[in-house]
Amino acid sequence: MVPMLSLVVPCFNEQAVLSKSHARFLAVLKGIPELDFEIIYVDDGSSDGTLDLLRGFQSADSRVRALSLSRNFGQAVANTAGLAEAVGDAVVVMDADLQDPPELIPEMLERWRQGVDVAYGVRSTRQGESVFKRWTAAAFCRLLNLVSDVAMPPDAGDFRLMDRKVVDAFLAMPERSRVLRGMLAWVGYRQEPVHFRRPPRAGGESKYSLSAMLGQAVDSILSFSFAPLRLATWLGLLVAGLALAGILFALIQRLVADVWLSASAALFAALLFLGGVQLMMIGMLGEYLGRIYREVQKRPLYLVKERLGFAPHKPSGDRMARE
Ligand code: UDP
Ligand code: MG
Repeated sequence: MVPMLSLVVPCFNEQAVLSKSHARFLAVLKGIPELDFEIIYVDDGSSDGTLDLLRGFQSADSRVRALSLSRNFGQAVANTAGLAEAVGDAVVVMDADLQDPPELIPEMLERWRQGVDVAYGVRSTRQGESVFKRWTAAAFCRLLNLVSDVAMPPDAGDFRLMDRKVVDAFLAMPERSRVLRGMLAWVGYRQEPVHFRRPPRAGGESKYSLSAMLGQAVDSILSFSFAPLRLATWLGLLVAGLALAGILFALIQRLVADVWLSASAALFAALLFLGGVQLMMIGMLGEYLGRIYREVQKRPLYLVKERLGFAPHKPSGDRMARE
């Protein structure tokens, strides 16, 4: 039987590149022999002409499907929504801006045919991205691997091919904060990197501001590590140790040199230090607590506004949410 490949593409205000991207996707997929495919675009609450473009693609080719979410839910949730609809034996997730070259798909497929369950793209160079973005991304990757419970490959984004069993495992994970890279690293199975040069965006602008990147960084650390919580123990030990050393120092000065440490100075310093550490640790607890709250609320992960080109019998995209 001819295998089926699903291509999942999240789109948030991508009207500037989408026509170009769509043409490249189709050209690559049609050029692969012995393959059925579907392209699933997920419109993540775009406010520009993205959805109209998708309508056009869909009416021109029945292998194109589009899912429109009720608002902007973020790239990770958009990807999840697309994966929940995909019916392929293998599924490729890639950005809409051609920064993930579709020409890599045949190579990923070849790996899959050889038995690899996840072929993930690794960027060997990143053109057109600021030095700041590259540097912070690299530093963050290192920090994450240092503290996290699962090893995440550095320089890998969401671009990857996954076997059906990996997609099902991913969809069976109910958590709200969906760090794709981390969750797929947790899944295991046979995973191999596919290296590529990351070109600049083919058009339009990046959807990530500095604060959005920071938010993502916090999310990936807290979802995969208890290190920040353990920090309380270590900081507590450190503070207690410092305080003890200070007391000893003051005592020795008193005994040997007959110097009296000003009581108010000592008290003030100790107070500020302890207060700061305590506030920091309470903030850390709050971060986890907020996430736990979000999980127990059990809201749907996303809501679907419109479905184009999907078979009617397929369960709706918020399948995960209703379970
Ligand atoms: N994206 C999305 N929802 C968002 C932000 C981004 O679906 O809230 C999509 C976007 O349309 C693109 C992909 O995620 O297809 C990657 O976004 P972008 O290129 O802006 O990220 P960068 O490459 O700058 O990290
Ligand atoms: Mg991009």
